[in-house]
This record gives sequence, C-alpha cells and structure tokens, in this order.
Amino acid sequence: MARKTKKIKAAGKYRTRSGISVRKKYNAVESKQRKKQICPYCKGRVIRHSKGIWSCKKCGKKFASNAYYIE
Ligand SMILES: [Zn+2]
Repeated sequence: MARKTKKIKAAGKYRTRSGISVRKKYNAVESKQRKKQICPYCKGRVIRHSKGIWSCKKCGKKFASNAYYIE
C-alpha cells in the first residue's frame, strides 16, 4: 500500500470493513465534522457536548443542532 487513505478519505481507517455505501456516508459526515464549527449567534467557537448539544465558548449559549456538525 502506497497511500493508506487513497480515494476513501477519512473512512480509510475502516479499510474494507462496513461496505462502500456506509463508508461513503461516513465520509460525508466526517468531512463536515472536521471543519471548525461556528456559533450561529456570535460566530465564536463552539464545543460539542453530546449528540446535537453544543455550547459556545464566547457567548456561553447552549443550543441544539445536528448531531455532528452545525448548519
Ligand atoms: Zn456564541
């Protein structure tokens, strides 16, 4: 293997497990998740507490959004 994550991006860590359709979905989520999540109120940085629960470092607001990323 020359490149470990060739073509399959973040799902490369699962190699051939789970099947291609599952890994494609995983890539879609993970690529969003890896971007910096921004507070919709003050554009500050947010922390994810658990699935869908986020809070902002800057303004201290706690809010619900998507499980793995903010839209
Ligand atoms: Zn904020």
